[in-house]
Amino acid sequence: MHEVGIMQSVLEIAEAQARTSGALRIREVKMRVGRMTGVVSEALDHAFAVLREGTMAAGARLDVEFVPGAFWCMTCAAEFESDDLIGGCPTCHEPSFDMRRGRELDVVSLEVD
Ligand SMILES: [Zn+2]
Repeated sequence: MHEVGIMQSVLEIAEAQARTSGALRIREVKMRVGRMTGVVSEALDHAFAVLREGTMAAGARLDVEFVPGAFWCMTCAAEFESDDLIGGCPTCHEPSFDMRRGRELDVVSLEVD
């Protein structure tokens, strides 16, 4: 369960950003998470609910956008979406290891007071 470690980093980043902008509290944290990270939405929500206590984000909402995995097919010179670790091109069925999206773990934006 690495969601706890992820959420610790996210809250550190969020607090640092909020302080820089002179905010007193964080109302919402927006994240973008790739499906290929293996991060489980419920575990992330739970980690957030526990770890936000005593931080500027106590009582904040967590909004997570999950990004599907995407691979590049050299044969077709085209991108395709797949949530398998080795993407199989739906057009030519060649496997691709060239992952272009799906490993994101970003804090996209904050809503602060
Ligand atoms: Zn292909």
